[in-house]
Amino acid sequence: MPKLSLLIQILLFVSTLTVCSLGFAEQTNIQKADKIFAIIDSGTIDNPEAYNLHLTQLESLISKGDTSRQLRLQRALCWSFNPYIKEQIPTALAFAKHVLTNPKLVNFPDHKLDLELCHTWFSEKHGNVEAALKGYNKIIEEAYARENLRLVADARNMRGFLRSYQGNFTQGLEDLLIAHALYQNLNLPAWAHSSLYEIATSYRRLGEHKNAIRYFKQVQNGHINKQNFDGANAISVSIAIAEEEQGNLEVAKTLFEESHDYWRNNKKELEQATVAVNIASTLIKLGEFTQAHQYLDEAEPFILSTDTAFYSFLHLFRAQAYLAESQLSQAHKSIAYARSAFSRVKNIRGLAQLQLVESQAFLKQKDWKQAYYALSEYMKLHIELDSKQLSSYTTEMRTRFNADQIEQENRHLIENQQLRELELAMLEQNELQQGIIIFLGGFIILIVSVFAYKQIQKNKLLSALALTDDLTQLPNRRYIYAKAQTYFEQAQRTESPLSVITFDIDYFKLINDKFGHEVGDHALKLLADTCREVLATQYKTARIGGEEFLVILPDTDLAQGYKIAQALVHSVRYGDFSQLPSGFSMTISAGVASLSTADSKLSLLLKKADQALYIAKTEGRNQARMG
Ligand code: GH3
Ligand code: MG
Ligand code: MG
Repeated sequence: MPKLSLLIQILLFVSTLTVCSLGFAEQTNIQKADKIFAIIDSGTIDNPEAYNLHLTQLESLISKGDTSRQLRLQRALCWSFNPYIKEQIPTALAFAKHVLTNPKLVNFPDHKLDLELCHTWFSEKHGNVEAALKGYNKIIEEAYARENLRLVADARNMRGFLRSYQGNFTQGLEDLLIAHALYQNLNLPAWAHSSLYEIATSYRRLGEHKNAIRYFKQVQNGHINKQNFDGANAISVSIAIAEEEQGNLEVAKTLFEESHDYWRNNKKELEQATVAVNIASTLIKLGEFTQAHQYLDEAEPFILSTDTAFYSFLHLFRAQAYLAESQLSQAHKSIAYARSAFSRVKNIRGLAQLQLVESQAFLKQKDWKQAYYALSEYMKLHIELDSKQLSSYTTEMRTRFNADQIEQENRHLIENQQLRELELAMLEQNELQQGIIIFLGGFIILIVSVFAYKQIQKNKLLSALALTDDLTQLPNRRYIYAKAQTYFEQAQRTESPLSVITFDIDYFKLINDKFGHEVGDHALKLLADTCREVLATQYKTARIGGEEFLVILPDTDLAQGYKIAQALVHSVRYGDFSQLPSGFSMTISAGVASLSTADSKLSLLLKKADQALYIAKTEGRNQARMG
């Protein structure tokens, strides 16, 4: 046998030398391409020219036949369109749509999902907010199911930003905090940094200005350290807005003016225009209307109607200034522009402010009826906003203090992802070996086939080991916890029932002592067989400890779950143990729990089941109890 393995080694060595000269060029190209993809993924490229240069390089490095990398390149191309250039948005949408028709995507679901995300993002930028929200929801669900954490982070980051902008801070912050934790865990500091900015913005919108400013300064320091003065200046604007909202109008005005001058000196007209819109808001509050109009006049040619955020506020501020100057017909015109823009993106905060201006304008015209109508619309919007804000506060506190737990709960998903990456790397390595085998062909094919077969067996074993329990062939703890998390989130979202059973063999230590460990092992296998027989396929059973098991029962309420647990207890008690030594018998105790609104986390649900199991144990064993 040693001789055989020596022969294989020699043959492999010779063949590797021969293949190397042919395969080397391709291999280094692939490595180069993967390096560029990693740079793109890291989010550290901050100018479009550099990004495009990388894309051109990729196009020359990736061979036509390398479908996976070709598709990955299409993803990078999709994200390369600039949403701030109006014409590029429909082009990006058409591009994504076209690539999504590629039939090869069926075999590359992660590429497909990322392209869908790209399409959804540009739909949002196109003003199609409802469709975008739906798109994000679907993508997040699928990304969780595929355990693709990078996509979960990206999609939740985008959805969080949109929700927060719409005034839905509760869910917005939840998304953003999770995205932030994931980016940190995935070692993507640039992206973590970007979500930090959005978290700061959400705090600002929540009215927590001090917190917001603290976060903004953190982001700003990051920019200054990297000599990114444009970035630092953009953050100054955010800080100025927070100062303005706190009522520090003079501080805000100075900060805005500094920022405005910075963009003017650097000839960035669009950025200059956006700051001009912000200054106008402060000036109106200070009663300096003429100056406010001047800034708005300066900004107007550069702010397109597709840039809904600035466009809507530009016209709101115009309306406020006209109102103060009693130019009422002008005010109504601006109100109409602003309203269509705010409505398009469902910005309730903006709409509420607008209704107030409109009602005041009608008051000045002594049109009481219209004024009353506008004011009552304002009240309605305000009540909606207040209730959102109130629940935002409580949830915001909860999410903030739970950030650590969120991170912990994500950790097992991350471990799974690392496992997958490892498996993939092994698979890629195998591909090279298989290439060598084919090249050698004929006379050594038999020997090498044996080798390849062993490799495949080993791989199969490795991936099976990672997710399956060796003794019972049931899924293991790692697998079931990830699955349970997915079911848990799905049940919460769809408000459908979900139950879990945890069970444990009674006096198993005694069984081992009396019949020996081997019999104990055999009994565990028989118990797994019983589970497979008794439990329908939609239920997932796993061995989570030595003689402890967990069953996940989707779409099952507590009463049904309890019946199933009783059936299980009964089947074990009267099970067929004829393969085991005579006198052998075994029972189990089970705890059942169902998802209730109080269960904010999976761990709480599992704890309830454990407590029920404990009661079943203390009250005589061989029974099921409800938690
Ligand atoms: P209880 O009814 O309170 O559960 O009593 P118990 O004896 O089952 O107590 P406990 O759950 O603490 O003991 C578990 C025992 O299961 C300890 C260990 O000897 C045995 N065990 C754990 N894993 C295995 C295994 O893989 N094979 C065998 N044969 N025994 C195991
Ligand atoms: Mg135990
Ligand atoms: Mg036990």
